[in-house]
Amino acid sequence: MGYIKKFFKPYIDEAQVYSPGGVLRLLYQQRQDWIRMMSNESPFEPSPRVLEAVEEAIHKAGWYYDSDFVELREAIANYIGFEAERILVGNGSTEILDMIFRGFINPGDEVILSDPTYPLYPIRIEVAGGKNVIVPKILPEYYWDIKGIIKSITPRTKIIIIDSPNNPVGNTIAEEDLKKLLEQNVLVVLDEAYGEFADKPLTHLAKKYENIIVTRTLSKAFGLAALRIGYTIATPEIINYLTKIKIPFNVNYIAVQAAIAALSDKEYLKRVKNDIARGREYLHKEISAIDGLEAFPSQANFVLVKITKPGVTGTDIEWKLADKLVLTRKYTGKAGLIGEYTRITVRSMDENRRCVEALRKIMREY
Ligand code: PMP
Repeated sequence: MGYIKKFFKPYIDEAQVYSPGGVLRLLYQQRQDWIRMMSNESPFEPSPRVLEAVEEAIHKAGWYYDSDFVELREAIANYIGFEAERILVGNGSTEILDMIFRGFINPGDEVILSDPTYPLYPIRIEVAGGKNVIVPKILPEYYWDIKGIIKSITPRTKIIIIDSPNNPVGNTIAEEDLKKLLEQNVLVVLDEAYGEFADKPLTHLAKKYENIIVTRTLSKAFGLAALRIGYTIATPEIINYLTKIKIPFNVNYIAVQAAIAALSDKEYLKRVKNDIARGREYLHKEISAIDGLEAFPSQANFVLVKITKPGVTGTDIEWKLADKLVLTRKYTGKAGLIGEYTRITVRSMDENRRCVEALRKIMREY
């Protein structure tokens, strides 16, 4: 008994399993009338073109289709303004991030992260054998400590990861600051999962720098999270290298057809961006006006809320909102945030209003 463990890689055995949400998600499964404000999903149905494409594609579910995703890469290339040879497609940007970690990290190599950040990175870095070097972001805005990051670079540093717009804060890195990092002799992964919601995404820096790897997704603005479609933009040299890691048929045919259809609907995307920006401004303004709450300015499809009333915790707010059928995500003590927080996804105007009303009621009772 127990001898099997000697076959395990210790750094994988010691890694945690990522959990995409807490107990409340499980409760949700029994009721369909909750407002989903906990996972930064899109509140909208996919484009009608997607629904049509999926219906048609299901008839070909028996095929092994193109594994290089030529047509989809062309569609992405066209959308993002790069050549198709500079694009690789993944099962969500999560798979792309994982390919990057597996591809570049040797056991003991270092990856620099700035807390608070997306909690999946450190876990997948550990599974790849890497060592997480955390450089905390700077209060009160939680902006990146650029000097601190540069100072933390050692001969073992392989990657610096920047998620901009940042999850969970929602802020973005300034172009000059990202350039400072790109001028170091390391790879910089720029995760722009929320790039469509930002005023000034920085994907274009991949035209100038060969050490940047940008990851993006159709999970957020295009509303296709369940279909798992992400992509990366890098030099052809990096793309060819990562292609060796990619398993064949890593994105299914139905998702591929859905993605091509989604990218063709420019009107849909424009509407989503406008609606999210409007909802985000509404949440920011109305929540900040509630005594004891302060919302951070956001360039993403969520707002981080700091609970400033003494004695009130993120857990209190999460549970009391759930009581009113609004699911959010508490961020207290998570990923380097100091104080009590909850993160609220922007939804339809009606749902945003219901959330604000619920928050007003809850805070009045304290
Ligand atoms: N990056 C960030 C910062 C995220 O918040 C998420 C999703 N929550 C992802 C990447 C992964 O998205 P997906 O795998 O659906 O593309």
